[in-house]
Amino acid sequence: MSSTWTLVFAIALIASLATRAWLAARQVRHVALHRDEVPLPFRASVPLEAHRKAADYTLAKARLGHWQMIFGAVVLLGWTLFGGLDALNTSIRDAMAPRWGGLAYEMALVAAFVAIGALLDLPFELYTTFRLEQRFGFNRMTWRLWVVDALKGLALGIVVGLPLLAAVLWIMAVTGAAWWLWAWAAWMAIVFAAQIVVPTLIAPLFNRFRELDDAPLRQRIQGLMQRAGFAAKGFFVMDGSRRSAHANAYFTGFGAARRIVFFDTLLKRLAPAEVEAVLAHEIGHFKLRHIRKRILAMAVLTLAFFALLGWLSTRAWFFTGLGVGPNLTAPNDALALLLMLLAMSPFAVFATPVVSGWSRRDEFEADAFACEQADGRDLAAALLKLHEDNASTLTPDPVYARFYYSHPPAMERLAALSDKPAPALAS
Ligand SMILES: [Zn+2]
Repeated sequence: MSSTWTLVFAIALIASLATRAWLAARQVRHVALHRDEVPLPFRASVPLEAHRKAADYTLAKARLGHWQMIFGAVVLLGWTLFGGLDALNTSIRDAMAPRWGGLAYEMALVAAFVAIGALLDLPFELYTTFRLEQRFGFNRMTWRLWVVDALKGLALGIVVGLPLLAAVLWIMAVTGAAWWLWAWAAWMAIVFAAQIVVPTLIAPLFNRFRELDDAPLRQRIQGLMQRAGFAAKGFFVMDGSRRSAHANAYFTGFGAARRIVFFDTLLKRLAPAEVEAVLAHEIGHFKLRHIRKRILAMAVLTLAFFALLGWLSTRAWFFTGLGVGPNLTAPNDALALLLMLLAMSPFAVFATPVVSGWSRRDEFEADAFACEQADGRDLAAALLKLHEDNASTLTPDPVYARFYYSHPPAMERLAALSDKPAPALAS
């Protein structure tokens, strides 16, 4: 059984790498091929220079992604078949066993695993921020701010993450045979609490959120919110420009904590009517219950995850097949959890197109809602500015986009917004 499992895992890993490499190669070829010509519907509104920059940025990210994929595969094999997780587990377990068995050992194991993972990712993170983003003029992060962010993240991990981890592991240890059901319930409680705590308490640790100070624009926005039935106190402007020139807007939160956040970089670029149209799109996500749907989908998926974990954690082949010796005298919950997260990553690649397909459908729905509440031409103009400011390519490979894109490619999205995209965009 153990060697069959090794084989299944190895096949999934090879298949996932081959799929990702094939998609990346398609994307690179397609974007490079269309680099020197703005697609016809955008010719009046997108300068060639901006189009070329988007192509170069997309290609640079694809090249980095290629190395990241290879490195990730080596790390995954290092943890599993080459014995990394086993070595980490035995050294921590043996060092702590006599006096600190049980929960303390499990927490030390997870903390060490997370810390090593973060250190391994560090070179890519630094390269992305200070080289790639810098080169294309997007980075606004200083080294000082980067260090402050990292320390805040570490403090949050210790103050919030570790107690939550302890609670979940404790529940796994004391609730008997149905522990996976209890652990899932605890996890869902954390997810719900995060919907309230993250926007109101944690996000403000990293950014400033202020109300809009532009009075005429505020009036316009309040009119829209009233029409659409959305609480007017839920609109905030975030100082995204502290870290990056990328522009964006997002929706988050539950109940009284639900809010729509505009980056200051986006607000500065859009005309008042365009702000209104983008806001109408974000309100659409709430009105169409997209947050609720996503949490529900996640609840079902994590239930399946915990049920599978409950079963696998009692099978010796699950451990030995991936190069890990199960504990005989200490609890296996944390070890099984880490191994499960590692083992599922190649399989999860094949779920990507389903999840991104759902997401794109939500985006089309929110766009349709926005067209009822505001002018679709304003939304189209805003989306185009957003593409240009973020150097997002207008010519992605169709198969790549279908697999990965959480938002529809500009061409499809603008076509859906208007029967005649070209004149609408030129206006
Ligand atoms: Zn959206």
